Amino acid sequence: MRKPFVAGNWKMNKTGEEARLLVAELLPELQSITAVERAVCPPFPYLVSLSNMLAGTGIGLGAQNMHWEASGAFTGEVAPKMVAEFCQYVILGHSERRAYFFETDETVNKKVKAALAVGLTPILCVGETLAENEAGRTAEVVTRQTRLGLEGLTPEQAARVVIAYEPVWAIGTGRAATSEQAQAVHAGVVRPVLRELFGEPVAQAIRIQYGGSVNAKNAAELFSMPDIDGALVGGASLKAPDFIAIVKAAAARG
Ligand code: PEP
Repeated sequence: MRKPFVAGNWKMNKTGEEARLLVAELLPELQSITAVERAVCPPFPYLVSLSNMLAGTGIGLGAQNMHWEASGAFTGEVAPKMVAEFCQYVILGHSERRAYFFETDETVNKKVKAALAVGLTPILCVGETLAENEAGRTAEVVTRQTRLGLEGLTPEQAARVVIAYEPVWAIGTGRAATSEQAQAVHAGVVRPVLRELFGEPVAQAIRIQYGGSVNAKNAAELFSMPDIDGALVGGASLKAPDFIAIVKAAAARG
C-alpha cells in the first residue's frame, strides 16, 4: 500500500506573516492525520521560520526549486544542501519552471540527482500542455519527461522519488482532469515507464500525485482511483480549510 501524499505548492504567494498564520491554522488539524504524508512548499524566504514551526509536528516542508550545483558563482540560486538544511522535499520540473525559466528534462534530471544526494525527496512534475493534449501527445510527452527526469537513477534512488502528474491545461484553470483521465495517465503511462526502468516492486512503491485544480470538492473523487496517490495542490493550498479538506479526503481513501 502506498501512503497518500498531499503537498501544497504555495508558489510566489503570501507575506511572511500570512505564511506563519496559514501554518498555525493548518497545524491543529493536520498533525493528527498521520495516515497521509503532508507537506507545505512555501517561497524560499519563509523556509527557516516555518521549519521551526513545523519541527516535531510530522508535517513536512518543501522548496519549490533549487540548483543542482553544490556551491559557487550562481547568483540568485539556492544549493541542494541549503534546502536540505530546512526541508525534506523539493518540487522539481514544475511546468511553470519549464515554461518561464526554461528548465529542460536534462536540468531537471540533474536536480533530481542532486536532491537525492543530499537526502531530499524530489517531487518530479511531469505533464502535457493543452496543445500537446489536443494533438494526442499526452503519453509521448509524459513518457519522455518521466524517463529523462529519472535517467541514471538506481532502483533504490528511484524508490525515493515522488512523481506529480500535472497536466498544464489543468493548473490554475479550475478545470481539473477527471479522475478517469488522471488514473489513465498514472496507471497507463507513468507506472509502466517506472516498471520498465526500475522493475515492478519499485514501480508499485513510487507515489504518483495528481496536480491541477485539485480542490476540496473534487479531491475525494480523484483519490478514489487506485493509482492517484495524493495531490500536489496549488491554489487550494493557500486556504487552510481547503487544504485540510483535501488531506482529509486522502485519509479517507478507501
Ligand atoms: C500546481 O501549480 O502545482 C497546481 C497544481 O496548481 P493548482 O492546484 O492551482 O492548479
